[in-house]
Amino acid sequence: KVLEEHKLIDVHEKTADLYHHILMNTQIGEKALIYLKNRGLTEEVIKTFKIGFAPVDRSLLYKVLQKENFSEDTLKKSGLLFQLDNSNWLDRFYQRIMFPITNFQGKIIGFSGRILEDESFDSSDQPKYLNSPETELFNKRFILFNFHQARSEIRKKNEVILFEGFMDVISAYMSGVKNGVASMGTSLTVDQINALEKVSEEVLICYDGDNAGIEATSRAVDLISAQSMMNIQIVSLPDRQDPDDYRMKYGNDALNELIRTSRDTVFQFKKDYLKRDKNIQLETDKLLYIDELLTELVKVSSMVEVDSALTQLSTEFAISKETLQSELRSKKQNYK
Ligand code: ATP
Ligand code: MN
Ligand code: MN
Ligand code: MN
Repeated sequence: KVLEEHKLIDVHEKTADLYHHILMNTQIGEKALIYLKNRGLTEEVIKTFKIGFAPVDRSLLYKVLQKENFSEDTLKKSGLLFQLDNSNWLDRFYQRIMFPITNFQGKIIGFSGRILEDESFDSSDQPKYLNSPETELFNKRFILFNFHQARSEIRKKNEVILFEGFMDVISAYMSGVKNGVASMGTSLTVDQINALEKVSEEVLICYDGDNAGIEATSRAVDLISAQSMMNIQIVSLPDRQDPDDYRMKYGNDALNELIRTSRDTVFQFKKDYLKRDKNIQLETDKLLYIDELLTELVKVSSMVEVDSALTQLSTEFAISKETLQSELRSKKQNYK
């Protein structure tokens, strides 16, 4: 079993070396390298994340790995290749920028590949990102992109930053924010939260500013508060941008500053979030909104934060603070 794991990791390490070499040193990787440089990545960062390129030829990986004496069983189990009708082998990833995914020990156990658009290749029916399939080693619900590399910085700052995409983690890294991780294009899981809570008391959610990102932020906030004791803050990106878009538009320093200084509490986030589907001019919507906000406040443990929020609500909706307080007290009793 341990030997088999070791071989699977070996397949992945060799594959990552190959894809990285193709990207950095060959003609077939040239367009991909230009693409990454246009997105602002330096060669140093490309090396740090060992980014690679899987070319359009789907027989390449097999040709290379065949020479390495891996058993057919190991190759199959890696999920990086498969066999058609018991004869020809095909590479899973082609025409994609390859991001190696490591386990918590830093060993490569899977990949995520981003399609490289090109006029000589019709990618319209291909997903933008393709991950390794679930294997013995690659369990998406346990994996966090960049966790191994970020761990010491997370511990040092006692804070971890959650991003939606790999490019956002890398963008933040380039702007000097090195405690970022991302889940694998799926929503955050309890297993991931447990892993993060072992190394940090603070979590900062920095998802995309589009609808999907805002909805995902709300779900992540609810799951983290239910499953852990971590303190949560939120950075909201303007104009539907993601952190990488923001860095491309305003620069490294601006992204760094946004992440450091534009933080909301959970209550501030929910105040905006819960307003989204309501017309506060309508009495019914307004009452529902206040009720939902008080329900959120039940979960806030800081009395100072609660008091400040009630003061705000009292002014905003012209309701006496005493009324809000007694409503909150009765909610608290039901909550317990
Ligand atoms: P890029 O900036 O390269 O266009 P992105 O990271 O902004 O990509 P999003 O569409 O915001 O891409 O998606 C966020 C993350 O969700 C991606 O990094 C990827 O992990 C995952 N993802 C996106 N599309 C897919 C897909 N079709 N299949 C699986 N995962 C996906
Ligand atoms: Mn997104
Ligand atoms: Mn995005
Ligand atoms: Mn993006």
